[in-house]
Amino acid sequence: MIPVCEPLITAHDIELVNDALTSGWISSAGKYLDLFEERWAEYCNMPHGIAVSNGSTALDIAVDLLDLEMGDEVILPTFTIISPAQSVVRAGGVPVLVDSNPGSWQMDVDQIEGRITSRTRAILVVHIYGHPADMDPIMALAEKHGLTVIEDAAEVHGAEYKGRRCGGIGHISTFSFYANKLVTTGEGGMVLVKSREHAERARSLRNLCFQPGRRFYHEALGYNYRMTNVQAAMGVGQVERIEETVARKREIAHTYDAAFSGIASIQLPSEMPGMRNVYWVYGIVLGEERETDAVQVMSQLRSRGIETRPFFLGMHEQPVFHSMGLFRNEHYLVAERLARRGLYLPNGLTISNDQIAEVAGAVRECLA
Ligand SMILES: *Cc1c(COP(=O)(O)O)cnc(C)c1O
Repeated sequence: MIPVCEPLITAHDIELVNDALTSGWISSAGKYLDLFEERWAEYCNMPHGIAVSNGSTALDIAVDLLDLEMGDEVILPTFTIISPAQSVVRAGGVPVLVDSNPGSWQMDVDQIEGRITSRTRAILVVHIYGHPADMDPIMALAEKHGLTVIEDAAEVHGAEYKGRRCGGIGHISTFSFYANKLVTTGEGGMVLVKSREHAERARSLRNLCFQPGRRFYHEALGYNYRMTNVQAAMGVGQVERIEETVARKREIAHTYDAAFSGIASIQLPSEMPGMRNVYWVYGIVLGEERETDAVQVMSQLRSRGIETRPFFLGMHEQPVFHSMGLFRNEHYLVAERLARRGLYLPNGLTISNDQIAEVAGAVRECLA
């Protein structure tokens, strides 16, 4: 079976992890944590980085920084992983959804302004599958209406929007370093913020809101969302290679692009002008003229030894949110089509060029 994604861990990563272990600094203090936070924030051109346990807990902290009151609204795309929506709900907020742009699969910026109300507090942008969302109009709307912008940048390490790094454009951004992300620490995440005040609060929230002067005295409720120095050591090694990682992801994508050119009625990943797609995943969307849907093509590929994954199912189609009275009878046609007709192919950093050719050949046969 050709796996959809396996992490690339180098001898250098292992050396750094061993050094962290040998040093005895195995919990949530140590030089690698400081280094990893510093280097990742600097790479994204943000002043402060706060390493946390994963990308979902990073979102919990980012949303906590909004100080939502019960019923405050946060606008986000329906086509996403559940993490951003659940952070909003858990903080007492109401997620308000927009559909996707059919070309880029990113949140449709033309739908945002119509969803802003007197309760709207923030726009939570989720960059999807390695491609940047259209940030300029989002930042302009946020400024006009006094909203905070959070970027969920868990899928776009190294992606660029008009010369700026994703995760360095909004007021707050979050990353995941899960095993299948472009930079991994096994499990891990980071919150990047622009203001010192946000940085101090995020650090406090991460660590149970212990007070610097009086440790077991609490003025707020926090979490234990700490990352370990051992994980951060791996992250330091991974960040050193980010440009190589992005180059290889782009090379894999361009190889697939070439192999699939001329196949009728499938949509390949796009790269909008002025943007750098890092192809976190390589997705294809089956045209509606085709009789087969994604589930059928995925099972044909599986029988040929190729692992794939389906696209996200939109938040408005999630039973858990319906049971809370959210999004009932809402429809977002692009997201609904992507969920049924989209799948992604093996494109991990360990895939060989022969394997890419094998996958491409099998896909061509299945779609012939
Ligand atoms: C992976 C991912 C997350 C969650 O990250 P974890 O580290 O798995 O918790 C959040 N948002 C997006 C967009 C992701 O792709």
